[in-house]
Amino acid sequence: MATASGSNASPSAAAAKTKHDEVVALFEQYVVPNYKRYPVTLVRGSGSHVWDSEGQRYLDLFPGWGCNLLGHCPAEVVRAVRDQVEQLIHVPNTWYTESQGRWAAALAQRSFGGQAFFCNSGAEANEAAIKLARLHTPESRYKIITFEGGFHGRTLAATTATAQPKYHAGLGPLMAGFVYAPFGDLAAVADLVDEETAAILIEPIQGEGGIRIPPDGFLAGLRQLADEHELLLMFDEVQAGCGRTGHWFGYQNFGVTPDVMTLAKSVCGGVAGGALLTTAEIAKSLRPGMHASTFGGNPLAAEAGLAVIRTIEEQNLLQRASELSEIFGSHLSPLVDECEHVREVRILGLMIGIELSVPATNVVQTCLERKLLVNCTQETVVRLLPALTLSDELAHEGCQLLCEVIRAAA
Ligand SMILES: *Cc1c(COP(=O)(O)O)cnc(C)c1O
Repeated sequence: MATASGSNASPSAAAAKTKHDEVVALFEQYVVPNYKRYPVTLVRGSGSHVWDSEGQRYLDLFPGWGCNLLGHCPAEVVRAVRDQVEQLIHVPNTWYTESQGRWAAALAQRSFGGQAFFCNSGAEANEAAIKLARLHTPESRYKIITFEGGFHGRTLAATTATAQPKYHAGLGPLMAGFVYAPFGDLAAVADLVDEETAAILIEPIQGEGGIRIPPDGFLAGLRQLADEHELLLMFDEVQAGCGRTGHWFGYQNFGVTPDVMTLAKSVCGGVAGGALLTTAEIAKSLRPGMHASTFGGNPLAAEAGLAVIRTIEEQNLLQRASELSEIFGSHLSPLVDECEHVREVRILGLMIGIELSVPATNVVQTCLERKLLVNCTQETVVRLLPALTLSDELAHEGCQLLCEVIRAAA
């Protein structure tokens, strides 16, 4: 315990141990050190603010790595989970629950119809997609084309699907059957298709790759290629999905419909959950016994997922995402002309990437010192995934501070 040693204590007296110091000590002894963590212990969140163990408040423009789509502890999700937790926490998928059925319907009705398989994370949703691609096509077809700079999760298959060498180091041999194309290069994809190709798996907007928006016609070209060769076109919407881009799903910005779509991150507003959606016809290939998830579609996740959809509709948040996007654009886009070290600003709805020619880690660090939470990806890209519930006032406040820090980062 921290002890007060009187107001006349000399500065050389041992500094009082903070709550944060105590937490760090636990981690150092007992938690696997596979994450780089900021030197902050978070204890509470509300909307786009979080508080740390020392009582400091931060403005969070990257809430929950994009999972907290409606900000921290949105009232409707809190209420839905609280009500459900007293009724039924978990039952396995050998039983029916109304929650899972209604959640599947809600997602299907806002996407391309079809049916849902539920799991707990993005990597799991993509695992299901990879297995489905192999099961749905003839056994001789097993190859999946994925894209450089893409990100699909950390299971071994999803890591292999992730065409970024830094994630592969030391893990070999990786899973067979993945081939990589440059993002945006339709001719290169066409060259990779052969009689063993089963599917194309792509993020319609690359998130971790630095908020990369596909060139005009690229996704439509993939759709055409998939149709010609009877491949499954599978969109990883784990980061772009669920309203973040101003549409329910990222693909709806481009008018190109996939055969399979994967969701996680924001789908339950911060509660763990994931899903795969596909047409009823393709869904038949995921035969009983071939795939499963113990916690997938559990009542807590399902009710959280339904609450997210309800909130987005009741508060008109798809339109709000577009309005907020304009505010971010009005502050950030001029930086390209203003600062030599700002290469490009890429914005689609509330997926925002600011590519610098200097390390973005410094920007993140300075922002943290000034109590603003943003993210860095691909070394030089400042990434924001703000909540759809952010107020105009906080959007302006966050942008002004961020612009100041970026200008000074030359
Ligand atoms: C985060 C992410 C994943 C992995 O999700 P997990 O829940 O961490 O397994 C997969 N795909 C995309 C596009 C992501 O952004």
